[in-house]
Amino acid sequence: MNRFVLVFAAVLFLVQPLLPEFTVTLLCYIGLASLVALGLVLLTGIGGLTSFGQAAFVGVGAYASAYLTTAHGMSPWGTLLVGMAITTGISLFLGFITLRLSGHYLPLGTIAWGLALYFIFGNVEFLGGHSGISGIPAIDLFGLELKSGRALFYLIWGVVLAAIVGSQNMLDSREGRAMRSLRSAIMSEAMGINTTRYKMILFMMAAQFACISGWMYAHLQRFVNPTPFGLHIGIEYLFMAVVGGVANIWGAVVGATLVTLCKQWLQDILPALLGKTGNFEVVVFGLVMIVLLHRARMGMMPLLLRLAPRGADRHDVEAAEPLPQRTKPQRGEVVLEAKEVSKRFGGLIANNQMSLAVGAGEILALIGPNGAGKSTMFNCISGVNPPSEGEIRFLGLRIDGLDARAIAQRGMSRTFQHVRLNVGMSVLENVALGAHQRGFKNFVASACRLDRAEEKRIRAEAALQCRRCGLGEHLHDLAGSLPLGKQRIVEIARALASDPSLLLLDEPAAGLRHLEKQALAELLRQLRADGMAILLVEHDMDFVMGLADRVAVMEFGEHLATGLPAEIQRNPQVREAYLGGVE
Ligand code: ADP
Ligand code: MG
Repeated sequence: MNRFVLVFAAVLFLVQPLLPEFTVTLLCYIGLASLVALGLVLLTGIGGLTSFGQAAFVGVGAYASAYLTTAHGMSPWGTLLVGMAITTGISLFLGFITLRLSGHYLPLGTIAWGLALYFIFGNVEFLGGHSGISGIPAIDLFGLELKSGRALFYLIWGVVLAAIVGSQNMLDSREGRAMRSLRSAIMSEAMGINTTRYKMILFMMAAQFACISGWMYAHLQRFVNPTPFGLHIGIEYLFMAVVGGVANIWGAVVGATLVTLCKQWLQDILPALLGKTGNFEVVVFGLVMIVLLHRARMGMMPLLLRLAPRGADRHDVEAAEPLPQRTKPQRGEVVLEAKEVSKRFGGLIANNQMSLAVGAGEILALIGPNGAGKSTMFNCISGVNPPSEGEIRFLGLRIDGLDARAIAQRGMSRTFQHVRLNVGMSVLENVALGAHQRGFKNFVASACRLDRAEEKRIRAEAALQCRRCGLGEHLHDLAGSLPLGKQRIVEIARALASDPSLLLLDEPAAGLRHLEKQALAELLRQLRADGMAILLVEHDMDFVMGLADRVAVMEFGEHLATGLPAEIQRNPQVREAYLGGVE
């Protein structure tokens, strides 16, 4: 893919001197829009957050530079830093308020602040009101004044391509995997990922890209007024990202190109056709948007990618020094102890005074009819849905007040009854997500490719856990392409990649064939022999009875019995409540 960037840059930069002035100017505007749309691809396509307010951040960059260069004689490079600092402040503040909004409240929130900033530009006196600010100086680059569009072209496209390469690198890293998993927040948090942090990073990156675009815009136009920073332009940027395709970085450039060219063309042709002047292209865009959302939600990129011969962009797994491991509890030491845990959902008591304990090197099976409250108990223990009452200790520490992330960081890992994988990522990447907390390089390091040594170790660890779980042949398959039973095994490998002391497995054998179940039992035995504590919910009685050291039975949210498998099988109460119904 980076080879593609080089070819693209070479063609663009070599051909430019041959192009007429008009085309170069158009390409400058396409570059400026691409940068804003790139931010939206990251925010919307990767993070799942929709913003209509990006044009306002473009305005912040443009106005900061316009005002400070003209009124205070600052250098454009200085004003760029000030603009970015202001953007950081505003986006921190707005992100803090709006990113916690869910569903359509978030886009509504972005509309609100998009409008607010727009009106500030138009109504603040020192910003020139509606007539704006003119006489903005040119950017000076190493003594070279970038006076013409032709000169700024190189700066604009240099920045766009650098942002593309940086974003691509970032997404292809530990931090990027976490960003790409934001839509599955419950799973991510249970893997120790701070989802709020990643939403905030994406939001701030999108804002900075917009701000930098605005800064270059101001020095290209040498004049600013509020019009290009209004809400309808914010919608246009979002439109570019959607048209291009939000699932791919290059969608930003494709979308910005298509929309800018179409707009130009429609502005020429529509007034002539209708015999009136006006912004009729907005109406056409609206209609096209509706058709697109119906017919091609992923935009143009998937179509283009189908045309282009695509090299497999998988990296091979290389040998690397193993990641450091936690100190594990001694065999027999109590790892998990839940005492009188209750969980209420409104009037429903899903867990009532449940107690259980698991030691290192022990497999405890939790069984009970459907709806008995087993998964609820898992959620209480792992902090996914904390208990209403009761006490839970993990490695001696009380965890019933902690959130899922804090618990995961202490060495508990889990799978989900309803599989939660990132179906668009490879098996290896899904498993690598489990090792998230074992790496430290941040997104800036990964954008600059300074994280490769650590990334190699994480991928080697992920591959090791995949092979351990019998997924060696599937490392580079999309997780969504595997049968459901195998997807459950991917979840186990992902949990193991976090180097846990306690493993919670919710119905791991469901959907597996006989031989696969035997392999799973063998794996769990091996883990037990290595000193892992395992708590397991399972319906397959042959599987459970042949594997577990002890079995705890639940019914109607309550504890019915705990004992050795043979004792449980003989227990008349249990037979009546559960086994009787099955056998
Ligand atoms: P099991 O895993 O043993 O089959 P669950 O723990 O999934 O059972 O469910 C126990 C009970 O709690 C069920 O009656 C279920 O409908 C209810 N329940 C589980 N989760 C929720 C929730 N988030 N909100 C409301 N009720 C729930
Ligand atoms: Mg369940």
